[in-house]
Amino acid sequence: MPYAYDDQNIFAKILRGEIPNKTVVETEHSLAFHDIAPQAPDHILVIPKGAYVCYDHFALEASDAEILDYTRLIGKICADLGVQPGEGGDGFRLIANAGPHGVQEVPHLHVHILAGRVLGPMLTRLR
Ligand code: 5GP
Repeated sequence: MPYAYDDQNIFAKILRGEIPNKTVVETEHSLAFHDIAPQAPDHILVIPKGAYVCYDHFALEASDAEILDYTRLIGKICADLGVQPGEGGDGFRLIANAGPHGVQEVPHLHVHILAGRVLGPMLTRLR
């Protein structure tokens, strides 16, 4: 079943300028802004401007130009934060939640960039 995009989601409203955001950087196809409830010293959300619900939707249906823009922007933000392990930085984590098992709250693709502290285990162990 194809994805149905809800254009009333909060990130769609941010893209339309209906809700303010603290922009980090904007490109032709993507926007990066600070998470409203940061869970690390650096917590940046990166979204495509196109109407993509989650990562697989974007990866399979976005244009090459959108994917290139988005992927390079994530790399550039990591470089700007100075967290690249290959450059002496302390590292980071990328998270892209999708759907109910991924516990995705906002149905517009976003990658979380988290950095600035040790982030702990990848997942909480459920018993
Ligand atoms: P998800 O659980 O969908 O992966 O993450 C959604 C993220 O969006 C959360 O980390 C939450 O704090 C963030 N968020 C929700 N509403 C807003 C908002 O209005 N502005 C910003 N900047 N972040 C938001």
